Parts: sequence; structure tokens; C-alpha cells
Amino acid sequence: MRVVLLSGGVGGARFARGLEDALEPGALTVVGNVGDDLEVLGLHVSPDLDSLLYALAGLNDEERGWGRAGESWRTLESAAAWGGESWFRLGDLDLGLHLVRTQALRAGEPLSRVTARLAERAGLRTRLLPASDDPVRTHVVTPAGRFPFQEWFVTRRHEDEVDAVDVEAAAAARPAPGVLDALRDADALLLAPSNPYVSLGPILAVPAIRAELAGRRARCVAVSPLVGGRAVRGPADRMLSRMAGGTEPRHVTLCYEGLIDALVIDEADAPARADVPLVVTSTLMTDRDAARRLAEVALEAAAG
Ligand code: GDP
Ligand code: CA
Repeated sequence: MRVVLLSGGVGGARFARGLEDALEPGALTVVGNVGDDLEVLGLHVSPDLDSLLYALAGLNDEERGWGRAGESWRTLESAAAWGGESWFRLGDLDLGLHLVRTQALRAGEPLSRVTARLAERAGLRTRLLPASDDPVRTHVVTPAGRFPFQEWFVTRRHEDEVDAVDVEAAAAARPAPGVLDALRDADALLLAPSNPYVSLGPILAVPAIRAELAGRRARCVAVSPLVGGRAVRGPADRMLSRMAGGTEPRHVTLCYEGLIDALVIDEADAPARADVPLVVTSTLMTDRDAARRLAEVALEAAAG
């Protein structure tokens, strides 16, 4: 069984690991968001791909929820002391990856190829693909102005309400090599419990990816990132309230119109109605077993 997951960073990575535990080795392809990518201290950083890579390689910090376990911060402290930027937290171990990737990108290697090399190096049994090798970049439009995603998320602590998400350069972006074939050949398509607007939206904004999903042969199932109408963390609930008009399952499905055949929701959100069938289960991924059980429910829903 071949499964493709579209995913953001932390929430998506937890679910991706659950899927890996539920599937045969090699069955899973994860297409990761690159709308959050940025340059810090001259280095290219791909936060969502890295969350996926670290989680699938078992290198992630479970407690902090992002970055690597056993991390230290001396390089960033030194950079700050020299007057360098330190608003975006990059640990010493994490920086090693950004150095290697930035060098490869500067030498002309596409992001998808660097990502494949890093994944191989980490011993991943899952294929990890960026949605695009092109520089699609998420911006948010707020009452205080339009901001690059990370400036709003990190510096402004995502406090401004969001009126619209604008994924710069998405209209002309092509899917990274392997993405369309993976979608076409999949027996099941899954949308992670990621932020619909800023994690999955930028993937779905790549026209060929959206068209492939809209014309899918396999079933596509999304997992809601909300539990009891609230995001487990982050701004997904506030964004849904403002841009979709609420935080019920039907507001989540509005983000995926024409693209999904079912939505997995939490028991705390049932009963509810939506324009696609709802599958009710416990969706809180408190540990690896819980993530695997959620993955199994989503896979079953995708099997029809
Ligand atoms: P980011 O790119 O690091 O922000 O990560 P994602 O967009 O992939 O994940 C953030 C979303 O994951 C948030 O909207 C959370 O509500 C959701 N999330 C995190 N943990 C869980 C969980 O255990 N269950 C569910 N259903 N959603 C979760
Ligand atoms: Ca992200």
C-alpha cells in the first residue's frame, strides 16, 4: 500500500511518525510545506521539512515540541553577542544541518535533492519531498499590514488576526520532482492535522498539486487539527474563526473543498455535520501509540 501525506511541521510530523508505525517500511511518502522557509544568518532554513526529518529520524525533542533533542544554543548566543540576528531560534545541532543544506543549495542542488540526501543520511524509511523546489513563500495579511510568515509567527507571536494568506510565487510554482507521481500512484492520500491555512494551504496553492488532488483516483482523508474547536497549539482556531466563520468540522472542510472524501475529527467535536463524511476518534497524539492509532483510523477511512 502506497500512502502520500501532505504535512506541515510539528503536528504533521507527529502524525507522520504514527503512519510510519502503522505501515510497511517504504510505503509512506511525505510532501512537506516549504512556505515557511526562510533565510537566517545567511542560512536557508526549512522548518517544516526539518521537523519531519527530525521526528522520523527520532532526533526530535519531544518536550520542547520542535528542534533536536539534546540541543544547545552557544552559536546563537555568540551570533547575538556579535550583533547578529537571534529572533529565530537555531540550536547548535540544528545549525549543522542548515550549513550543509545551504552549501548544497548555493552549489545549485535543488531542495528536493538535498532533502533526499539528508533523509538517506538519517536512515529514513519514508520518502520526504518538499512540495516545490521553487521559493513559494507564505505571507499573512493582517489589520497591521502584510508580513512574511515567520515575522508574523515568531516576532509578532502570531498575535495579529489574519484576514488572508498570500502564498507568494505559488501560482508559478511547480511541484518538486516525484510529487505528482507519488500522488498519482498512491493508494491513499492523507492531509495531516496541520494548520489548514499556513501549513497545508501553501502546498495546495501549487496549481499542479491541487489539480492532481482534485482529480484523484485514490481517496483522500484529512485529519482535523482541532480538538473541541481549539487548536492543540498555534493559531489554527483563530484563523478558522476569522476566515472560515467558525471552528466546527464544516469550517475545516471548507479549506479542503473538493479535495477530501472524509474528515477525521475528535470525539470532543462530535456530533457535527459537514459536506463530507466525518470519522470520529480520539485525535490527540499524546504519545507514539496514540499517533499510530490515529493513523490507522485515517488509513481505514482512506481505504473506503
Ligand atoms: P507547524 O508547521 O510546526 O506549525 O505544524 P503543523 O501545521 O503541522 O501542526 C500544527 C497543528 O497541529 C496545530 O493546528 C495543532 O492544533 C495541530 N496538532 C498538534 N498536535 C496535535 C494532536 O495531537 N492532534 C491533533 N488533532 N492536532 C494536533
Ligand atoms: Ca510550519
